[in-house]
Amino acid sequence: MQGSDPAIAGGADAFPGPGELEPRRRIFTNRNLRMESIAAIGFDMDHTLAIYNVDNFSRLCFDMALERLVSDRGYPGAVRGLPWLPDAAVRGLVVDKKLGNLLKLDGHGHITRARHGAQFLDRDQRRGAYPRGRTRIGTPRYRVFDTLFDLPEGSLYTALVDRIARGEIELGVSLRRLYDDIRETVDTLHADGTLKARIIADLGAYFVRDPGLVPTLERFRAAGKRLFLLTNSEVEYTGAVMQHLVGGGPGDWERLFDLVVCSAGKPAFFLARGPGTPVEPGRHALLPVRTGNAYTGGDCFFLENLLEASGDGILYFGDHTYGDILRSKKSVGWRTAMIVPEIEAEVAGLTPLRGAWQELNALEEHLDDLVSARDLARSGGEAQAEALAALERRLGEALGRRARLQRQLRAAFNPHWESLFREGRAASRFGRQVMEFACIYTSRVSNFLGYPADKFFSRPLEVLPHERWAQPEN
Ligand code: IMP
Ligand code: MG
Repeated sequence: MQGSDPAIAGGADAFPGPGELEPRRRIFTNRNLRMESIAAIGFDMDHTLAIYNVDNFSRLCFDMALERLVSDRGYPGAVRGLPWLPDAAVRGLVVDKKLGNLLKLDGHGHITRARHGAQFLDRDQRRGAYPRGRTRIGTPRYRVFDTLFDLPEGSLYTALVDRIARGEIELGVSLRRLYDDIRETVDTLHADGTLKARIIADLGAYFVRDPGLVPTLERFRAAGKRLFLLTNSEVEYTGAVMQHLVGGGPGDWERLFDLVVCSAGKPAFFLARGPGTPVEPGRHALLPVRTGNAYTGGDCFFLENLLEASGDGILYFGDHTYGDILRSKKSVGWRTAMIVPEIEAEVAGLTPLRGAWQELNALEEHLDDLVSARDLARSGGEAQAEALAALERRLGEALGRRARLQRQLRAAFNPHWESLFREGRAASRFGRQVMEFACIYTSRVSNFLGYPADKFFSRPLEVLPHERWAQPEN
């Protein structure tokens, strides 16, 4: 089963060198992590163990939310027909409820793109709307899209704001109220079970089964790790989804875990709240609790006691930048593995454009040199006039070439927001957070099959700006 995945050359037992693994399935290291010193490994479920068909899920959520806006909040019936916009949002974007914009920020907190409906603000409009420098987004004015569950909201807000901006609909609510209506509606759809009932009724449409998942978990167990599932999903949903992903008889998936915690309430789970409530054995067909080790709620301290492991002896896999990764690392010092499914599409799109990517990077360095030479020639007066003209010409050509390469590379990413991890020459806010809070990151849990269970993940050499001259040419 493992060897059938072409992304993992040689299968699980051969352990290809890192260079042989397809880049989209590699594990990337931000901080040294010695798997030998990990006693317990935990997994979030949704978007971590459970790979969603994000398009199908988002479209369902989008349609159901529009219906609810009409039926429960008195929105005009015409909004029912709004088309689903698959590319409207990516993770890491920030909603500005006051001005009705979606924002992309760079790793320093600067707003680098702002979109109002289908229209991007130009540089002057953006500077007029937002002061220069770091924007503090930890206020009720803003909301960050931290998980793939948030993408339908980006599509709903973009579509509705666009119709308002074009004067095609009149909703009679502020842009802030509009976003809050969308947020509350989506929140209710998750919480009241209607969305989950539709998903459970057609699990094959909403999840991608990964044949490497069970072998990966079994390999961790064989290496002596204690495994736990820690999810915000409720018992019934967890049972249905895990049963679908793992297969076997009802509740068989339980054997993979030493401990299961549902309805965990992350991120509050990482604050002291007391022990969880045991799930009643035999009450739920798909989580029968044969091992007596399933709970709802509780906190990380009760979990650490049960597992007899704590702090940096625990590695937690999650997809939520804040609720899974940042809080578990900051509050209790767990090691973190972030699952970023988007890596697969971004890297796959970039692979055929590798030459253009390398050329662009080399050109960026070259441009700096050209600009310096041009500025020097400018200050040289008449004597440098000829050299200056030549440099201006070369600079013009290089800028033209850069624009063409950038257009080519854009095809690999989201057409509006481009790379998830990058903004121009620097990391995006999302990319920076991944680098800061995730010890390692990868596209899916089963990528571990390409590595030995006791792997020492060592961080790559960090090259400082003054050391770049000594680097080999690309
Ligand atoms: P986890 O990723 O396994 O911790 O679980 C995520 C759970 O949060 C799923 O059951 C989702 O349905 C649920 N969820 C995601 N977004 C929302 C929301 O906006 N309101 C309530 N529940 C949500
Ligand atoms: Mg999750």
